[in-house]
Parts: sequence; C-alpha cells; structure tokens
Amino acid sequence: MTLRELQELVQTLYGNRNAARGLDATIEGLDDRIHRISDLADRELDERAKALSGVIVEVTSIANQAGIDMDEALRFYIHGCPECGNNPCDCN
Ligand SMILES: [Zn+2]
Repeated sequence: MTLRELQELVQTLYGNRNAARGLDATIEGLDDRIHRISDLADRELDERAKALSGVIVEVTSIANQAGIDMDEALRFYIHGCPECGNNPCDCN
C-alpha cells in the first residue's frame, strides 16, 4: 500500500467522522494513540503492530484534514535528515 492509497483508505474510513470532529480533535486522537503505545515493549508482536498502525492512521487523518499529500511531504527526508542534512542523522 502506498501512502496515497493509505490516505484514500483513511479518508473513506474516517473522513466523515474527522470532518465532524475537526482537526484539533483529530490531533488529540493522535495524542491518545501515542499514549496507548507507551507499553509497547511489553506486548506481543501482533498487538505492537496494531497499536503502531493506529498511530499511523491518526497521522494520516491529520494529513488528510490539513490537505497534506504525504508522498509529497516526505520529500524533506529524501536527501537526509531535514535538520542537519546528513544521512545518517548527525543531530545532537
Ligand atoms: Zn539530523
């Protein structure tokens, strides 16, 4: 699945709900999803995958609401770390 396909799937799955609740609430949903992965290391692999996919879906929901094409947005990483410009990253 490409990022564009994921964005389309997430729009079909949650686009109406997200439009009704608004971008701020979707961002709060991401915060909730991140909180849910705080014990990731203690879980079985399938549960880890499910929890992390939830984070990706919330990020994708935010991208959809913000009008961001994630395939295009990731151009910032094509040539290395967007902060230091190196690959591998040399920040810190
Ligand atoms: Zn860096």
